[in-house]
Amino acid sequence: MTADIQPTYPLTKAQADEIASLHEADTSELERKLRQLTETCQSGCATGFSKCTTHQNELRKLYQNAYTAASPGRWTAFRPAEYTNDLKRMFDAQASIEKINGRVRREKLQHIKDSQCTFGVSDHPKAKITKMKAAEMRGTAVPQSDIDNYIVKEEEQLLSSLTPEEREIQAEYEKSKSEEQKYSYLRTCACTPQPTDTPRDIELRLKWTKLFDNKVPYNEILPVMKKDIADATSNVQILENRLADLRNAQAANNKAKAAKEESKRKQARDAIRRCCSEGCVSVCELSGPNADLGCERCFALKEDGVLQNYSWFCSPECAKANAGSHNARFHSS
Ligand SMILES: [Zn+2]
Ligand SMILES: [Zn+2]
Ligand SMILES: [Zn+2]
Ligand SMILES: [Zn+2]
Repeated sequence: MTADIQPTYPLTKAQADEIASLHEADTSELERKLRQLTETCQSGCATGFSKCTTHQNELRKLYQNAYTAASPGRWTAFRPAEYTNDLKRMFDAQASIEKINGRVRREKLQHIKDSQCTFGVSDHPKAKITKMKAAEMRGTAVPQSDIDNYIVKEEEQLLSSLTPEEREIQAEYEKSKSEEQKYSYLRTCACTPQPTDTPRDIELRLKWTKLFDNKVPYNEILPVMKKDIADATSNVQILENRLADLRNAQAANNKAKAAKEESKRKQARDAIRRCCSEGCVSVCELSGPNADLGCERCFALKEDGVLQNYSWFCSPECAKANAGSHNARFHSS
């Protein structure tokens, strides 16, 4: 099986540089040919370039060749096939060069966006934040040059915060010029076991290794990896939520237990017989000669269900001293 490796974003520095220099060469070559064509027409034809059918047709052919030719290493190689098909259709349908140039400009903008904002497997979390912010800026009035400057500034800052080893790895990646090099680099990133790997991580790395072994294009591997990582993260999240639930349940349980004990203690406290004499807070004895020293009339009322509680006195002295006021308060009617 041969490696079917499609050009994929993000670009390495080496790829971006190559695209830029090829684009510059292509553009100046096209401009040179256009100039030459205009000059030929002006010197040979009487109608004027814009009205000269022969040379306007040649002009279309120049653009058509430049825009639809197979272009390895060009930015257009990174675009979906629909783009080239679109252009071919437009040329066939005799669309105006302005319209075609407009289509090219739109695609080029999309290419810049994809180059600057597509996440890579090995992206540092900070690089991802930069890409997200750049993508946000694109929808606004922020000029392209400001976005470019922002990205450069953030990249420099990130690079200076990396360890020498991390910088080395990053530099190695940026040097990859071909998709094959990038592929093998990304394979290393995705499949090399890390000391921090969980059993699930190890499983995932084995799964990804198989994909790379089968030469699955990495624009197909990337979504799989992203999903796997998201799933693993959400599994961790579910586990953490479950643990939190358990902890909450346990806390609630403990709280209920504490409340139950408190109520038991309260009951025990309430079981203590307080002397019913006004102003006396003494506890009545539950055994011994002074136990069960109470008001006979209250007992009778309690037995009849009229009173809720018995009335106890702490001592014969207290009972004697307070019987009058007790009777006046409770049994005067
Ligand atoms: Zn002409
Ligand atoms: Zn009484
Ligand atoms: Zn009483
Ligand atoms: Zn008392």
